[in-house]
Amino acid sequence: MRIILLGPPGAGKGTQAARLVEKYGLPYISTGDILRAARNSDTELGRKAKEYMDRGELVPDEVVIGLVRERLSRLRQRGSFILDGFPRTVAQAKALDEILAELGMALDRVIDLEVDPPALVRRLSRRRTCRVCGAVYHLDYNPPQQPGVCDSCGGELYQRPDDQEATIQRRLQVYFEQTRPLEEYYERRRLLTRIDGEASIDEVELAIETVLGLKEQE
Ligand code: ADP
Ligand code: ADP
Ligand code: ZN
Repeated sequence: MRIILLGPPGAGKGTQAARLVEKYGLPYISTGDILRAARNSDTELGRKAKEYMDRGELVPDEVVIGLVRERLSRLRQRGSFILDGFPRTVAQAKALDEILAELGMALDRVIDLEVDPPALVRRLSRRRTCRVCGAVYHLDYNPPQQPGVCDSCGGELYQRPDDQEATIQRRLQVYFEQTRPLEEYYERRRLLTRIDGEASIDEVELAIETVLGLKEQE
């Protein structure tokens, strides 16, 4: 199973990926998580990434492509993976095609979670993230059992600096300009499936499992 989760910031990619990872044990590659980890370490990559992330801009293609190439070439389990947050530009999608061809792998499906801007803003502005394990919560829609504390690891929850109103607007703009064209890119290759991302977390999960053939129709 080799899949990409596509969709704007706040569409629910990370939330759904976490569920698929837990149920099916698929290797998970999130460029956002990798870049945030780098950001917290005092490295050249981290310093460079921070500048872009805090402004809501995309980190340069060559940096992100290098990270993904390295992760993909280390995969085992007959090369299954879930990619979350990559590709985000047509250049990244083309590079991914080349990397997968080199590794003798092919994509099975690109799942596009559709959510309109007003709902995205409501989700991002009240999202909380675990500092330790990266788990994602929402103050109204998916609150932790204990305020400020991660259910899975007990870590501290925080608001990502790019989840503030002004940066959210910029990220949505960047999405519409640079990432949206990927829908057509994958549609042409007959890989794209659109899913209503405004349904509940459980409903979206079921829809994804059905598309991927993981759920028998009852
Ligand atoms: P979101 O919750 O918006 O989906 P992510 O955690 O995926 O956010 O990404 C956070 C930030 O990390 C992005 O705004 C961008 O700066 C950077 N980033 C993540 N993935 C990529 C990518 N594929 N290309 C360029 N920048 C990326
Ligand atoms: P992405 O990875 O696409 O940026 P997240 O999975 O981090 O999105 O979700 C963004 C926010 O919306 C989080 O606070 C999450 O708890 C919440 N969320 C995710 N899916 C849903 C849903 N189906 N309904 C309501 N809120 C959701
Ligand atoms: Zn945690």
